[in-house]
Amino acid sequence: MKRFLLGLALCWGLPFYAQSQPAADLIIRNAHIWTVDAARPEGEAVAVLGERIVAVGSNQQIEAWRGPYTRIVDAEGKRLLPGFNDAHVHFVDGGAQLDNVELNDATSKSEFARRIGERAAKMPKRQWLLGGDWDETKWDPSELPTKDLIDPLTPEVPVAVNRYDGHMVLANSLALKLAGITAQTPDPAGGVIVRDRLGNPTGALKDAAQDMLFKAVPSLTHDQRRHAVERALEHAASLGVTSVQNMNPDYADIATYNELLDEGKLTTRIYAAPLITQVDDQVKMGIRRAFGGPYLRIGAVKAYADGSLGSATAYFFEPFADQPDNRGLLSDEMHPISLMRDRMMRADSAGLQLCTHAIGDAGISAILDIYSEIETAHGTRDRRWRIEHAQHMAAKDFDRFAQLHVIASVQPYHAIDDGRWAERRIGHDRASRTYAFRTFLDHGVRLALGTDWNVAPLNPMLTLYAAITRATLDGKNPNGWFPEQKLTIKEAIEAYTLGSAYAEFQENEKGSIAPGKLADMVLVSDDVLAIDPVKIRDVKVLKTWVGGKLTYDAATAKPEAIRR
Ligand SMILES: [Zn+2]
Repeated sequence: MKRFLLGLALCWGLPFYAQSQPAADLIIRNAHIWTVDAARPEGEAVAVLGERIVAVGSNQQIEAWRGPYTRIVDAEGKRLLPGFNDAHVHFVDGGAQLDNVELNDATSKSEFARRIGERAAKMPKRQWLLGGDWDETKWDPSELPTKDLIDPLTPEVPVAVNRYDGHMVLANSLALKLAGITAQTPDPAGGVIVRDRLGNPTGALKDAAQDMLFKAVPSLTHDQRRHAVERALEHAASLGVTSVQNMNPDYADIATYNELLDEGKLTTRIYAAPLITQVDDQVKMGIRRAFGGPYLRIGAVKAYADGSLGSATAYFFEPFADQPDNRGLLSDEMHPISLMRDRMMRADSAGLQLCTHAIGDAGISAILDIYSEIETAHGTRDRRWRIEHAQHMAAKDFDRFAQLHVIASVQPYHAIDDGRWAERRIGHDRASRTYAFRTFLDHGVRLALGTDWNVAPLNPMLTLYAAITRATLDGKNPNGWFPEQKLTIKEAIEAYTLGSAYAEFQENEKGSIAPGKLADMVLVSDDVLAIDPVKIRDVKVLKTWVGGKLTYDAATAKPEAIRR
């Protein structure tokens, strides 16, 4: 609500000029603000009117915005930052995973099996056991799980637990049976059914082969989906994530966001990019990039060029160092490449933004080829093409990346996670151009930061920690894995706020604490700009605001009722 003092001032006969300014709804004072606004990088206080920031300055300057109804928050000298904008999440999967079986931190095969068995015992017969995010590299010996491990524990519950990168799933025998996958089933294009020496499926299915299994899984009911979104929103608010860019949502996910928006309960801003296989739907309606309102936008499509490094399906020019006969796979969307080119051309003609998953150097190169062909065919324009992950770059492609103004949408946490074993898989030379954040900046390539949640944790502090320390999770690279690629804390924060906003065409609306912008802010427990980088991963969020509304308060740990 806007409360203009002007009326009061006239009633009281005060001088017009002294009271012509409206009062703020919210003032945050005694803060240590890093604004990410080059025009005024620092401040002590900020005034918010409605859902926007109206002023940033000293406590004294902002005092002029105080009125009788202004809410005052004393930040007690804590660090205030723009809200984090996670440029790559799988929001509903993430929300669902908060309630699923947790396998990621299982440190052995037997622990993995035990957790699945315990969960299955509590589930109704025939209900699918999903999620998991397992990571066999944390086991000793590190080998792929097979269905034999879990079959005896899960005779009546179909199991489809995914590897944490989403590029492999382990099914039990019942799940394979329900999906009709047998020794006779051929590998699909862009996928692998892992088999034993006799040709029988082991239960592990890679990339496109996963779809054969997931077809048999009933889709979420409306209530399940809504619950997952609510869990995800709550989780995001508690971590200071005020915007997310949702890769490959189902249409039903977007419908659920819309339902919550209508009820005033959408507390995280969402830009949703459905799969390019459905490109014609948005084209038909004339939807263009960043179509919608401040809380919910569409207008992008998400494509897949290849698989992942962990599943040995990322597509490389040369074979993997540890698998001399394998150089990865192009995705099913790239069989043939002209299929992808045609879809991308259609999307671009319609004004849709392209966000393409590409991890291996040859996968990235193939997408840059297509982007370049589009530019030749359709002319230059402000398109903000993105490559999601952009993990392993060919040396020749950094310049092309910059010339085509492609945004590198990267997830630094993957660097400290994969950094444990990546060099064994691709060798030193290729590893030196892996998660090459500094090289991108040196070439003038814009970065957008994110997590790929639920592939990695949504917590921005872990991402900042990863980007500036590059200290792998196994503790073996305390000074950084390829330390020359580290970002500074200021660069990382900027890429995670303004950089991500730019990647969704919203840099004039959000991404910094500046007059006129949406009041999306986060107050944190310690000064991330000054503390020992190693301690950043322990920093906690104290308060989160979206559009000036408090969506998380650590003091009460209950989101304030959101009303708009
Ligand atoms: Zn992803």
